[in-house]
Parts: sequence; structure tokens; C-alpha cells
Amino acid sequence: MKRWLVPEFCQACVLFPLSCPFPSKETSIMLLDNDTHAKLVSLRQELHRHPELSGCEQKTSDRIAAFLEDYTPDELHRNLGGYGLAAVYKGKSPGPCVLIRCELDALPIEELGTAPYRSEIPGKGHLCGHDGHMTIVAGLAMLLQRTRPARGRVILLFQPAEETGAGAKAVIEDPAFAILKPDYAFALHNLPGMALHHVGLKPGAFNCASQGLWITLNGKTSHASNPEDGRSPALAMCELITAFAQLPQDRDFDREFALVTVVHARLGEEAFGIAPGFAKLMVTLRSENDQVMGLLQEKSEELVKQIGQRHNLETALGYEDIFTASTNNPDASEQLLKAFKAEEITLHTMTAPMRWSEDFGQFGHISKSAMFTLGSGLSQPQLHNPDFDFPDDLIETGTRIFHRVIRNILGPSN
Ligand SMILES: [Zn+2]
Ligand SMILES: [Zn+2]
Repeated sequence: MKRWLVPEFCQACVLFPLSCPFPSKETSIMLLDNDTHAKLVSLRQELHRHPELSGCEQKTSDRIAAFLEDYTPDELHRNLGGYGLAAVYKGKSPGPCVLIRCELDALPIEELGTAPYRSEIPGKGHLCGHDGHMTIVAGLAMLLQRTRPARGRVILLFQPAEETGAGAKAVIEDPAFAILKPDYAFALHNLPGMALHHVGLKPGAFNCASQGLWITLNGKTSHASNPEDGRSPALAMCELITAFAQLPQDRDFDREFALVTVVHARLGEEAFGIAPGFAKLMVTLRSENDQVMGLLQEKSEELVKQIGQRHNLETALGYEDIFTASTNNPDASEQLLKAFKAEEITLHTMTAPMRWSEDFGQFGHISKSAMFTLGSGLSQPQLHNPDFDFPDDLIETGTRIFHRVIRNILGPSN
């Protein structure tokens, strides 16, 4: 890849450092020299070897804290909303507060990669690239230690439990975080299928809202030879699966993106002698905004009630993995666009939001927030695939973009 050891120097500068013909072009102070880059790659690969699941990121949090302590933040807050941590770097004078967020957690998936630093924990892997996102933000700590912002504050937030949608809310509700009060919040997610180092941004809706809905249907078991003596939920379960598949075609969703995915179904026991008395269904509801999600919930609950009643079954339902939609604030989006331009990053303007969900949307309720995607390569396995591996080449690109955003908002450092 192109390394920016002397970034933004024009050809003339390289030849005649004191006679730049383009003095108006600000020169980046950021230099991820080989030693710095090697330290970050080593951190990323170490994190990759030791993945921890959502809400259990204790060792990851300890490792990041130890790393950050070497780069002397003005404040280091631990155990935010679980194992979250935030390093604060202060400028010389008052000013806005810019938060950069990354995620601590990995996935309950067996890694099938062959890298020498592959997961050492059976059944767990950093297969969403959060190891890389953490390293990008750790790179900012190295730069901010060398040069504080001119004004305001920077918060480097390592958030727990993103994959379950619980972490951002837990951090925001933690009184120790509430006092930090960011004005802006930024985050990225790497995106396989997009060229390495390219970025994607969309104003407004950026990530979909999603919720996991579980449903139980309770009837009565009976002998398989006399199913009429019981109340089997089999037909109701089939009707519900069909109804959920058709729900997005409902007229009310004509102009809106709505998706219902049946992810799990279980009926009775594995016994040929028993007509079932119990069924469980799990579906994921997905929509472009929170209003449509409300409508999806309403209609789903009505379906469960109607079908349950028709088959004389007791029903129960509940929601898990709740993600609100992420919406990019216009001002924060503009800051990202300025940074992409200054860093000469190729931008893909997105026309539709990402279908995946992100709990980063929660930061939009307390600050001007924006998120972008950073291409992790055309041939990169998809996120959550067992052979996904965050490309180390992206560390510098991500760090540069965020560092540029910080400098643009908080002023160039001296
Ligand atoms: Zn993920
Ligand atoms: Zn992720």
C-alpha cells in the first residue's frame, strides 16, 4: 500500500523543503513512522489472538488501558457501561469535545483463518474487525500524546458490547461517562467488498434499526397417535413463518425499507411418540428508521396474537438485541467530508443505508454524530465470516482520517 511517511508534501517540497510553492496547503503533522506502525500492528494482532465476547471484554479492556497509560492521557476512565474505557486528551484552551468511538468485543464464531496470530480462544474470533478499529483509535492516542489539540477535548472511547446492541446505551447511561459530554461523535466500520482505503458516507439514515423478536407458542402435548387430545403449535408456527415472510409486502411498508428474517424455529421434542405442545420462533426485524420499526413491531405482535388465538395457544413474546437506527448529522458528516478531501481519500456516496445495525446510533442522541465505512478490500471475506481478518494496512488510513477530523474541529496543534 501507499504509506504516508511524508504526507501531503508536494513534489517540490520533497526536493526543496523550504520553498513549497503551495504554502496554503496544510501539511499533516501526523507521521506514523515505521516504529509506530509496527507497534500498532503488533497490538492489533495481539487483540486478534485474544477475542472476548460482548460484555466479557475484561482482558481486552485491561490490555487497552495498559497501552493507553503509556501514552499519558489527561484522564483515563475505566469500567464505563461494563468494561468500556475512555481516554481524554485536553487542549490548552476551552473548546468543543470530539469523541472517537471503537468497539471492544469479538464474536462467538470459530475462526478458520490461517494467520499466525489467529484466535487462541476456541469458538471465538475477532471476525468483525473490532481489533482493527481499536488499533486505529489507539493510534490516535500515540499522536495526541505527542501533540495535544489546540483547544477543547478529545475522548477516545473503547465501547463494550456492540455486537449485542447493549454497549453504547450502557456507556451513555453510566454517570462516569455522562460528565464527559461530547459535542461530536465519530466512528467507522470497515467494509469488505469496498476497495481498500476507500470510504463510504451517507447523510441521514446510515445504519438500519433492528430488533430480535422471540415468540413462544404454548399448547398441550399428547400421544402422537392421538394428536387431537392435545394442542399442537405446529400449524400456528408454520402460519407465523409465512406471515412474517410476507409482512414487508404489507401496504404500510410500500415506500419504506422493512425486512423480517426468520432466524430460528423449534417445535416440540425429538421424539416420535409425542405430539408437540411447545414452539419457539425467533425473527429479526429490520428497518431504515425507528418509526418503521415501531410499525413492524405493532404488526408482528398483532400477527402473533391473531394466529395464537385461532389455534387456541398461549403466546408470549419479547425483544432482544435492540439497535436504533444510526443517523448521520449534517454538520458531523460535513466534518468527515472535509477530512476525506484533505487526506485525498476516495469517497463513495451511498444512496441507501447499510442494512446492518450499529448501536453507535445512540451517540446521535447526545451529540452531533456521524459514521462512515472504510473499505477493507474487494476480496476480503464478509464481516462475521469465519475467515475474515482486518487488514493491517487500514490502521494508518483510519487513524489519519480521525486525526484530520480532530485537527479540523479543535485546531491544528503546535
Ligand atoms: Zn459485527
Ligand atoms: Zn462490527
